[in-house]
Amino acid sequence: MADVQFSPQQKKTENITAHVIWMTTGLSCEGDSVALTSATNPSLEDIIRGIIPGMPKVVVHNSVIAFENGAEFIQAWWDAEAGKLDPFVLVVEGSIPNEKIKSEGYWAAIGVNPANGQPITTNEWVDRLAPKAAAVVAVGTCATYGGIPAMKNNPTGAMGLPDYLGWNWKSKAGLPIVCIPGCPAQPDNMSEVLLYLVLQLAGMAPMIDLDEALRPRWLFGRTVHEQCNRAAFYEHGDFAKEYGTDHRCLVKLGCKGPVVKCNVPIRGWQSGVGGCPNVGGICIGCTMPGFPDKYMPFMDADFKGSASSFVARFTYGPFLRFFRNQSVKNIGDREPAWRTPGTKLESGYQARWK
Ligand code: SF4
Ligand code: SF4
Repeated sequence: MADVQFSPQQKKTENITAHVIWMTTGLSCEGDSVALTSATNPSLEDIIRGIIPGMPKVVVHNSVIAFENGAEFIQAWWDAEAGKLDPFVLVVEGSIPNEKIKSEGYWAAIGVNPANGQPITTNEWVDRLAPKAAAVVAVGTCATYGGIPAMKNNPTGAMGLPDYLGWNWKSKAGLPIVCIPGCPAQPDNMSEVLLYLVLQLAGMAPMIDLDEALRPRWLFGRTVHEQCNRAAFYEHGDFAKEYGTDHRCLVKLGCKGPVVKCNVPIRGWQSGVGGCPNVGGICIGCTMPGFPDKYMPFMDADFKGSASSFVARFTYGPFLRFFRNQSVKNIGDREPAWRTPGTKLESGYQARWK
């Protein structure tokens, strides 16, 4: 294979080492870290091995994939706080509890403070590391908007990172918190944003474009419905009545896709395969602020879904379906007259089978 030629800028950035301190110690199931291991575009291995020409070296410190454990693992966190791992990206997974509303103990912690022998809470680690980080990322719906641990009446006062640090919070490099919601977050959404931020910190990409909920706009700019491969059935007012092999629109079974921002229907879950409604599962709004409370009960059509499907079913839907079917049958599926075998065929071919 021919040697790859690098530009001076690429050679420069290859000398930078960016660290990723990935905290899995919020209130969560570590599902985002597990999902990250199935990313393919780029894969975690691509990022760690620096397979993309010109990208900086990246070292990921995440307890799910780490070889080190105990004090050896947590040393990177101390080094980051001490400014020895500059620049670093702080990734937070899991929601942030309110440590002020308990009578004793702690909600979430990792490591021991040598000064007093006490566990260091997740909140304290965020307070120690976020001001030193070049970029801060919240992965998964728990870390972004609170998610399941922040359901109504939960005892921990759980919240997302923007609620904890502030929605207008900026890193020392001037970046807002970057939110990648999902339950779990789509693997390639995480690896792609991580790569983007590393390139931005190396001066090779412009400021990341985020929407009002701090999500990368290019990933969360469209609804599930706008990308779903069942959308034509919705337009035709043709709806599935039960789960299983019915390939029609799932809105009457509770799909919330029309009002949910998520790119899973076109990106799939792994290597482009999967994608909730595309493969028969209703969208339950797992990427959205207010999930899950706002989208429950999951398997009932909400009022807006019922109303819009009613209109589609009893007004324009059947007409569209009828006339399109007629068009396909009478025009689309037929050869044009000038190609019809017989005397009219312009090529002069006389069909042997006529
Ligand atoms: S299954 Fe859901 S996302 Fe797909 S077309 Fe129907 S309502 Fe929209
Ligand atoms: S399609 Fe809906 S349920 Fe599926 S990942 Fe996206 S937001 Fe979550």
